Amino acid sequence: MNMDLIGVYLREAFESGGCPVCRILEKFEKDEIGTVLYEHVNDPEVRERFKESLGLCPYHAWRLFETASSNPLYGGLGVAIIYEHMLGEYLGSFDGDKPVREGKCHLCTLVEEKEALTVAAVAERMDELLPVYRDSDAILCKRHCELLMDELKKSRPAFAGALREVQKDKLERLRGLLQGFINNSDYRSESGPCKEEVAAIRRSIEALKGRPLAINITGFRKGRKRGRKGIRVGWKV
Ligand SMILES: [Zn+2]
Ligand SMILES: [Zn+2]
Repeated sequence: MNMDLIGVYLREAFESGGCPVCRILEKFEKDEIGTVLYEHVNDPEVRERFKESLGLCPYHAWRLFETASSNPLYGGLGVAIIYEHMLGEYLGSFDGDKPVREGKCHLCTLVEEKEALTVAAVAERMDELLPVYRDSDAILCKRHCELLMDELKKSRPAFAGALREVQKDKLERLRGLLQGFINNSDYRSESGPCKEEVAAIRRSIEALKGRPLAINITGFRKGRKRGRKGIRVGWKV
């Protein structure tokens, strides 16, 4: 992807609703799972990475299974081949007294790397993206707003303040919509809540907690990484 294409694709994410970074990561994760199922089932290098975590983290193992079961293009064979191998690894540990190790999940690593790259790319294009963001329905989740602020403070401090103001306005507006929903849900209300007020419920959860991604669910934070002892990181991708 060249510079302009990255700019166009970031712009699109900032024009749509919800957290633009979460949305990019969700699509990335979906594509990566598709690639594993479609191209990498028998790739020894990828299989090694699966082995490292004994078949991914629980979140990604279930995402893989759901993707495979919901798309006839993939079917169950790929998942069967991978997990037959993983079961073999687990069974192997019964023969000796060495417990099988579950290291860092390969997909978690990929998504975390993509997250860091995305946040840096957004920071670099803040002059173009901030006006788009201001006028759109997008709202960065708390995690991604904080990561982006950290990046901006380092590289482009003037934009950190501007983003803070835009973010605060957006959150205040969202809160107003939720208050509208609550008031208009009253039986005395003539019209009932409008569509935007209904959508504010979902958008508020997304603004605070992000999309349902492993990075948001397991609470991985920069500088607060969980124990990494014995875990190999930095796979080539
Ligand atoms: Zn997010
Ligand atoms: Zn994972």
